[in-house]
Amino acid sequence: MDVNADPYTGGEMAYTYDLQVHTDASPCSNAAPADVVAAAVSRDLDGIAVTNHDTLAGVAAVRTTAPDELTVISGVEVSTTQGHLLALNVEEPPPQGDPLSVIEHVHDLGGVAILSHPFDRLREHYASNLDAIAAAVDAIEVRNSRCLRTRYNERARAFAREHDLPVTGASDAHFPMEIGRAYTTCERPLLEALQRGETSSGGRDRYLSGHAATKLHQLNESLGLNFTLSR
Ligand SMILES: [Zn+2]
Ligand SMILES: [Zn+2]
Repeated sequence: MDVNADPYTGGEMAYTYDLQVHTDASPCSNAAPADVVAAAVSRDLDGIAVTNHDTLAGVAAVRTTAPDELTVISGVEVSTTQGHLLALNVEEPPPQGDPLSVIEHVHDLGGVAILSHPFDRLREHYASNLDAIAAAVDAIEVRNSRCLRTRYNERARAFAREHDLPVTGASDAHFPMEIGRAYTTCERPLLEALQRGETSSGGRDRYLSGHAATKLHQLNESLGLNFTLSR
């Protein structure tokens, strides 16, 4: 088995995945597919899920440039009537709708449905029908490194524990410098580990520079400028 050192804790797990990465196919990101791949490789990730907002655009471009040893999971970050939902391992985007119907669509497509930053009150989040959603969904993202407050991730972790659901971690990167800041680890390939409830999350819970980069990107877009933020 291919064992990589955990880049942040020094621990060893067989597989490390960043399960939410955006590219320039999302309006709020300017990450070129080749730069996303280079960042993922430099951080020793085994895989990334490309999850642009309500589109599968970007997945093919990342796959084309990725080396064989980097798994590229096809995904979408779906907008529901409540929070965001990650649909992984789908080859077409599920339609937007209420959380339960989106989850059902993801399953019909053979995919995995994960609540994304579910209780981040500064972004789209979940507030009602939570028991039914918990009964339908496959996993909870308990560590999203774009949550500005640690307690939003803590609430997600408590929810996963309460409902005995598998956990994931992800950077939610919109810029290559963010890739791998939070991640999911497991001892077997991702889908198998999720089915067995044998995943863990690692990395950083929160940080500010990603949001600063987003603001700069929006400013550039609106003013037609080209400032960049280096690491
Ligand atoms: Zn989101
Ligand atoms: Zn996202």
